[in-house]
Amino acid sequence: MESEFLDIKGTIVTKAFGQAYTKTLHRNSSLSVLEPKYVLLPEAYTDIPPILEYAKAQHPPLEVAVKGGGAHSSTWASSQGGIVVDLAKLNSVRVSEDRSSVVVQGGAIWEDVYSVCQKARIDVVGGPFWFVGVGGYLTGGGYSPFTPQRGLAIDNILAATVILADGRIVKTSATKEPELFWAIRGGGNQFGIVVEFVLKAFPTAGPFTVGILAYPGSEIENVLKVVQEWKSTYTAREKLNITFARPGPHFKPTVTILPWVSEDASGRSSNVLAPFRELGPVVDTCKAVPDMLAVSHSLDALFAVAPPRLIIRGALVADLWTDMILGLWTKWSAFTEENPDAKSTTVLWELSGADKIAAVPTDKTAFHARTPHYWVAIQGRSATEESVPVMRSFVSSATSYVGQKNREKTGKDAGFFINFAQGDEPIAKVFGANLPHLRKLKAKYDPKKFWSKGCVIDPDFHVARN
Ligand SMILES: Cc1cc2nc3c(=O)[nH]c(=O)nc-3n(C[C@H](O)[C@H](O)[C@H](O)COP(=O)(O)OP(=O)(O)OC[C@H]3O[C@@H](n4cnc5c(N)ncnc54)[C@H](O)[C@@H]3O)c2cc1C
Repeated sequence: MESEFLDIKGTIVTKAFGQAYTKTLHRNSSLSVLEPKYVLLPEAYTDIPPILEYAKAQHPPLEVAVKGGGAHSSTWASSQGGIVVDLAKLNSVRVSEDRSSVVVQGGAIWEDVYSVCQKARIDVVGGPFWFVGVGGYLTGGGYSPFTPQRGLAIDNILAATVILADGRIVKTSATKEPELFWAIRGGGNQFGIVVEFVLKAFPTAGPFTVGILAYPGSEIENVLKVVQEWKSTYTAREKLNITFARPGPHFKPTVTILPWVSEDASGRSSNVLAPFRELGPVVDTCKAVPDMLAVSHSLDALFAVAPPRLIIRGALVADLWTDMILGLWTKWSAFTEENPDAKSTTVLWELSGADKIAAVPTDKTAFHARTPHYWVAIQGRSATEESVPVMRSFVSSATSYVGQKNREKTGKDAGFFINFAQGDEPIAKVFGANLPHLRKLKAKYDPKKFWSKGCVIDPDFHVARN
């Protein structure tokens, strides 16, 4: 499309487009919506450099935000008065002839990827939900159900194509422009727009057993006993989430177990779930589904009724200590009791093997957390605008509590990760030991901090010159 200011193949949308503009603003969290001057939807990689040039040439220069799937619960993929480069039209997925890799464009969501993988009977190390974008998920590290078997999603990227702030379109891999390849695997949105990822593929490990086992809150200690026993026996074929939620119609504190089990000939899930079933869950929807596309849709009914005002914060944690989990349970129960408008706030603990994460040295990619760990995501939801501040404050205090417990138990900080950060976390705790190297590479690839949203890295010019 040609307009008075840009000649690109893609689409240019402004407020004057009415509904079409409003549609482009949609994000997974309504709190992530801002009103940009232009939404630009490139259709070719060559559309992007002129957009960046145009933004820089304005007085003052326009902010540029990049949107992948729009699932991050921050405003990093949105802009107030600037430009949003919305990658939605760059969402193609192509399987290599030998089915060992998949080329995925940077605006795809996991549904695009899993639909193609389903037909080819392959899997990739990707996200658990269909609506999450590959772009944000992969550049932030990517914890996947396959992580216990195959590491983080970034450990399974073979190559990428990146558009830098100066408009260069650069192909990168372990052998081509390797420093950029290092930086985009865990450095977030700080180095450029990744328009293409080449992901390792492997024969499908399906079917998978997924679903919900729910227990009244009064059972939490018994559930956690089984969880602690399970921690010493689980294998890389399974993982589970422990969540705190208040599901309808009663809205009482409920602890749920959300398993993911890659089945084998022996029907592995029946063994894995047996101790949890012996506790007598009040709800048990667990069943086998054929592939990751079906897995990624398995919680659709829950998301459909959740209020759209969502803030997620996560924290890494060295272990899932029962007293820490119970401490947060008490805080969460009280908060959701006292704030009915925020009662849909949930806490999700991820319990999955981290040996493969820890097998990769800390300096191999930009992702810092390479000692065994788990993570927690506090998902604050609010039914009204009025209760957003109190919900935000709970989400922050809950992650601080987990951080403090981790320090008490280990004497160290486990830190944060970009995919569940909000941008105000101390940068040294988001990038850990890799921060100095990231600063050096920021000076090389984005010295003027053109990429100014998110967990922003200050360039280190001194190191870059030496
Ligand atoms: C319900 C839910 C469950 C989740 N579960 C997990 C999980 O299990 N494991 C996990 O690791 N994460 C998980 N996440 C977090 C998710 O990975 C991040 O929110 C991720 O940023 C979403 O990617 P996106 O492309 O949809 O994000 P967007 O909101 O579009 O973008 C997020 C950030 O990434 C940048 N970005 C997006 N695309 C590109 C690109 N192509 N090139 C450069 N920068 C880009 C944006 O500029 C922005 O800064 C979950 C999120 C939700 C909402």
